[in-house]
Amino acid sequence: MKTLLLFAIATVAVTTAVADPAAIARDARAWRVKHEQKVIAELAELAAIPCLASDLPNIERNAAALKTLCEKRGLTVQLLRLENVPPIVVADLRAGADKTIAFYAHYDGQPVDPARWKSDPWKPVMRDGEGRDVDWRKAKALDPEWRLFARAVSDDKAPIIAMLAALDALRAANIKPAFNLRFVFEGEEEAGSPHLAEYLSKYPDALRPDAWILCDGPVHQSRRAALFFGARGTTDLELTTYGPAKGLHDGHYGNWVPNPAAAMAQLISSMRDEQGRILIDGFYDNVQPISAAERDALAAIPNIEGELRQTFQIGATEGSGKPLNELLMMPAVNVRGLESGQVREKAANVIPTHAHASIDFRLVPNLTPESIRPLVERHFESRGYTIVRGEPDAEMRRTTPKLLRVQWGAGYPAARTPLDLPLSREVSTIMATAGHEPVRLPTIGGSIPMYLFQQPNGTPTIGLPIVNHDNNQHAADENLRLQNLWDGIEIFAALFAGLPSK
Ligand SMILES: [Zn+2]
Repeated sequence: MKTLLLFAIATVAVTTAVADPAAIARDARAWRVKHEQKVIAELAELAAIPCLASDLPNIERNAAALKTLCEKRGLTVQLLRLENVPPIVVADLRAGADKTIAFYAHYDGQPVDPARWKSDPWKPVMRDGEGRDVDWRKAKALDPEWRLFARAVSDDKAPIIAMLAALDALRAANIKPAFNLRFVFEGEEEAGSPHLAEYLSKYPDALRPDAWILCDGPVHQSRRAALFFGARGTTDLELTTYGPAKGLHDGHYGNWVPNPAAAMAQLISSMRDEQGRILIDGFYDNVQPISAAERDALAAIPNIEGELRQTFQIGATEGSGKPLNELLMMPAVNVRGLESGQVREKAANVIPTHAHASIDFRLVPNLTPESIRPLVERHFESRGYTIVRGEPDAEMRRTTPKLLRVQWGAGYPAARTPLDLPLSREVSTIMATAGHEPVRLPTIGGSIPMYLFQQPNGTPTIGLPIVNHDNNQHAADENLRLQNLWDGIEIFAALFAGLPSK
């Protein structure tokens, strides 16, 4: 009888708790405190399986482990397959609701150079704040500043374990998501997601949810939780200018024989000014303006530029004094490298035969690799250049005054989800109420193929990273700060319980 009564009270408490992310987060925290060892054990076990996308036998072991972890929680699991590539693991917790929201993470990791690691990258080790190994299995309590070291522990296995732990915490509180919750775990993100587009088109039922939450990347450098609503697109360009067929004495011929290094320098400075503003005609014509909601979010981003300038040892910034995150809303032309002749002890008084420049463009909404190519090439032609695609032959060099070899790389467009969509607002509000107010980044500056998730109908796609910014992502000694994992569990629990309100 007493038990029954307690149960009834608990049920009432549960119903009201659904609307209150703060209570959900508190419950999740209480659950976590009691189950820290178990959560870490699951993460350490998963991180102990090598996970290079090219290592198919081990990739299959990862996929099988994920299947087991999800099935243990009563999820319905399918492994989507294309021939001889890592499977995508899809796990569903169906609520019979109209809406399906997919939470994405990837289970592959970057290659490792074991010689640079303090310990075996596939044998997870816990270390304290001073970098000393600690035996977490025997510890009475885990210090939230401890870090677990292993490849892919942060990028991107921690979010997977945090999501599963959040489900456990909700189950313990007898709370179920009100939407169809789907996990999608990709196995070749670090290899550039070469088959993601094919997967998305082959498996529309599994991979076309109503919204995507992409759980990858680090939180803000201020250590605050973060959301990102876009990513820049990218495309790259190799340029070659030509001088004489062989190096010529620049005393005898300078001022008369064209200098390809100087020509390249002039061409580059014709493309961008000293503040990084692009000088190519029409480049900004279609750039999506910054919305009022995006302006609000930009204004609220903690200012860490002083620290960054110190760390990077830069005495000035480009962009006419605008803040970093506002500049990331704009397209950019970057010079990746320049090569011509010889310098320092190898320098010679010679007019070089050619000059190379390697350029990349960062793209924002309404600019695509296809749309900018004609603008860029028109710019070159307006400077008197004749564009060639292949290496010009002697005849071509003899008869063409200004030759420019132009080689475009592949690329893809930008993605941006409006900050004032109901889902965007809801995710932010739930996190804030749960005690993890996010820094809202209208876009990240880097390029990830977020546009693929949005296609074909502009599916809302929001990035939700949980791991520490100083996790040595992609480098040696990748690590996860435990507090980030704990925060992630609370955030996921609050979102699973609170999304979507309608
Ligand atoms: Zn990642």
